[in-house]
Amino acid sequence: YFTNQTLVFHDGQFISAEQAQCSLYSPSLHYGHAVFEGIRAYDTANGTRVFKIKEHYERLAYSCRATSIPLAYSVQELTDITYQLLEKNNLSNAYVRPLVYAPDPMMSIKAPTASSLFMAAWEWGNYFSNQLTRLTISPYQRPNPKSVPIEAKVSSHYANSIIASHEAKQRGYDEALLLDINGYVAEGPGANFFYEWDGALYTAPAGNILQGITRNTIIDLARSLDIPVFEEFFTPETLHHATGAFLTGTAAEVVGVASIDDHVFTTPYEETIGAKLATAYSALVREEVGARRTRPAVEQSA
Ligand code: PMP
Repeated sequence: YFTNQTLVFHDGQFISAEQAQCSLYSPSLHYGHAVFEGIRAYDTANGTRVFKIKEHYERLAYSCRATSIPLAYSVQELTDITYQLLEKNNLSNAYVRPLVYAPDPMMSIKAPTASSLFMAAWEWGNYFSNQLTRLTISPYQRPNPKSVPIEAKVSSHYANSIIASHEAKQRGYDEALLLDINGYVAEGPGANFFYEWDGALYTAPAGNILQGITRNTIIDLARSLDIPVFEEFFTPETLHHATGAFLTGTAAEVVGVASIDDHVFTTPYEETIGAKLATAYSALVREEVGARRTRPAVEQSA
């Protein structure tokens, strides 16, 4: 993620990644009380462009409000820091990770009065392969929205993601598909989920999931292509009738699904709505018109 040349932003300054430090007594480390974003920059015909940067920083600001973590930067300031960080590190195709955490040593469980901003970026190329992902329904549910603000990107939620993902891999699958507290299909550990049936797309509604920025972009793209999209609750059994499925997220873009447990999709991926939208999404984020792409390989990050 970094070399001895890498600069990161930490508390108002660009400093060497190797010099950036935080306290082992930070409550963010002990309790996961921190918020973050996962953002991507692309080398486009119009220069380096960060896709949906405003949406990402508005979500970061929301995550701070939802967790009572003060945020000392405006969306515009965060945007400016991001572009400076990319320029200073000579990055175009990159992943950007802002983290807002509680810097002060504190072991009591109370909201911090101040926060620190750490922002790092690293090279994130275009990964394309024909490998589809094999999902399994996880025995773990997504966190209960009545216990935590599930639409906020809170560090502590990712213990659930890591545990579920690891459990799926231990059983020989590529990734987990988690249900919500009511037993409906919710999302992957770091991506939203769509399935296809009879020319339409279905995805879990807001409420029990992280409302992905990629998810919203895919819904807009689908509707612009006259593909109906239904945001509704569905059980894992419904998926036995699905003709295709895919995951969406900033890091991996659109990832086709080969199978869910023992239900294998028989429609060739190239013929699915997901493949069509993967191409359209790739062209959109790279600001290419009419670009022809295949789907990106499974490259995971939250
Ligand atoms: N759900 C979860 C749990 C995630 O971690 C992510 C990645 N941020 C997503 C969905 C997809 O969100 P986005 O499209 O905004 O990256």
